[in-house]
Amino acid sequence: MLDRSIMRKLKKITGEKGVLETPEDLAVYGYDATFADSPPDAVVLPTDTAQVSRVIILAADLGIPVIPRGMGSGLAAASVPFEGGILLTLSRMNRILEIDLQNRTVFTEAGVITAILQAEVEKLGLFYPPDPSSIKHSSIGGNIACNAGGPRCLKYGVTGDYVKGLTVVLPDGEIIKTGGKPIKDVTGYDLTSLLVGSEGTLGVVTEALLRLVSKPKFARTARVEFQTIAEAGKAVNDILSAGLVPATLELMDETAIKCVDEAMRLNLPRDVEAILIIETDGPDEATVVREIEQVALVCSQNNAREVRVAGNEAERTALWNARRSLSPSLARVAPNKLGEDITVPLSKIPETIQRIKSISRKYDLPIVIFGHAGDGNLHPNVLFDKRNKEQWERVNSAVREIFETALDVGGTLSGEHGVGALKRAYLEKALGRRSMLLQREIKAVFDPAGIMNPGKIFPENTGT
Ligand SMILES: Cc1cc2nc3c(=O)[nH]c(=O)nc-3n(C[C@H](O)[C@H](O)[C@H](O)COP(=O)(O)OP(=O)(O)OC[C@H]3O[C@@H](n4cnc5c(N)ncnc54)[C@H](O)[C@@H]3O)c2cc1C
Repeated sequence: MLDRSIMRKLKKITGEKGVLETPEDLAVYGYDATFADSPPDAVVLPTDTAQVSRVIILAADLGIPVIPRGMGSGLAAASVPFEGGILLTLSRMNRILEIDLQNRTVFTEAGVITAILQAEVEKLGLFYPPDPSSIKHSSIGGNIACNAGGPRCLKYGVTGDYVKGLTVVLPDGEIIKTGGKPIKDVTGYDLTSLLVGSEGTLGVVTEALLRLVSKPKFARTARVEFQTIAEAGKAVNDILSAGLVPATLELMDETAIKCVDEAMRLNLPRDVEAILIIETDGPDEATVVREIEQVALVCSQNNAREVRVAGNEAERTALWNARRSLSPSLARVAPNKLGEDITVPLSKIPETIQRIKSISRKYDLPIVIFGHAGDGNLHPNVLFDKRNKEQWERVNSAVREIFETALDVGGTLSGEHGVGALKRAYLEKALGRRSMLLQREIKAVFDPAGIMNPGKIFPENTGT
């Protein structure tokens, strides 16, 4: 709980409605989409960049931690305020400020929900491709802070590929602008790219200038069934090495299929080890159809049991609803899940899947595997009950082995969720000591007092 005089000052900056302090509100804002929770001392909801700056100046003066938050859908406990402090929620900064048709950009406040921004630009025939599965409940600021990916990233790239410029409030309250509308810009270091993926540890993103492309006019979506997950993994490899670039190439293993089918009654096949959801898209229908046929052929050559192309928009939407509901539907199996997002070289997908399956057997824990297979980005989700202490220890050992497997095959700890609080113990192993310390030094340059989202990314013994 913060001192009354501090609360009064915060309310003076944002107005009465901009500060929440009841125990119920604090509890609600102490979560993200993981099992972690810890309430902040106050929730502050600014309405513009100037207010953010004034709140941070006040916090910096008093050494109060500031934790930026978008929609709290993160999967790395990166917005959980473990040390208390001010949870700075951008949800009231939700205006789209400009859509520039000539330069094909959108300038937006950071609190806008990604699906809303996408719908607005699509009305004008434009397209903002990054599509995290949490698209309806995550914000542009959160997507930028995590460099969010999503199914479409295989063809279109991740959030960072679309960020052209940012307005950022630094940990001392100063406001900076990076980047801009020009297509090329090598004037000095690329601060925009440094801030993308920095998980709210270097500053608060309040506005973003995003690049747009033309909206693809046609799409074809197929559901492909495989008797074995190894065949599905090999098909992913063969599709991409044949030079085909579908917009999406998503994998669901048998447990994932069962969970989502039980939750949504979609008549998914329960007797196969894996399905792939594959979509091709583009400006010309004939090419899009030809591509999905070529993809289907490669799948058949890899012993696909069935390739079913969605016949209409309703079938296509049902397939994507299934994929997007997957993560929440896992709650039917166990009360808790630890969803990782390792990313491995494409050639290593089959081996990685087999190794995760043996980790699951070794620790006697259900591990669901799904994810953006076309990017090598797998989401092994360990399902468990956190109240069972002995099981929790097995979960930790299993997760450690999953990370070791990813690094061993030449992969990485996180493709899109970030390090947050949950993976920081593994950072040095993933980056190497010098590289990790260099990053720690960058953090210290931005935030010498360590008030901005402390306890995230870096292991405890190397500071906040
Ligand atoms: C069902 C489900 C599906 C998901 N699917 C995907 C997926 O396909 N791809 C993917 O990449 N992620 C996915 N995620 C994870 C999550 O949705 C993303 O990480 C998303 O980008 C988080 O956005 P948010 O607004 O909820 O951010 P929050 O969870 O509020 O915050 C996440 C991090 O961003 C920082 N942050 C938030 N806003 C700002 C800001 N304005 N300035 C500075 N820092 C800020 C926070 O401090 C924190 O470190 C999924 C999550 C769920 C629950």
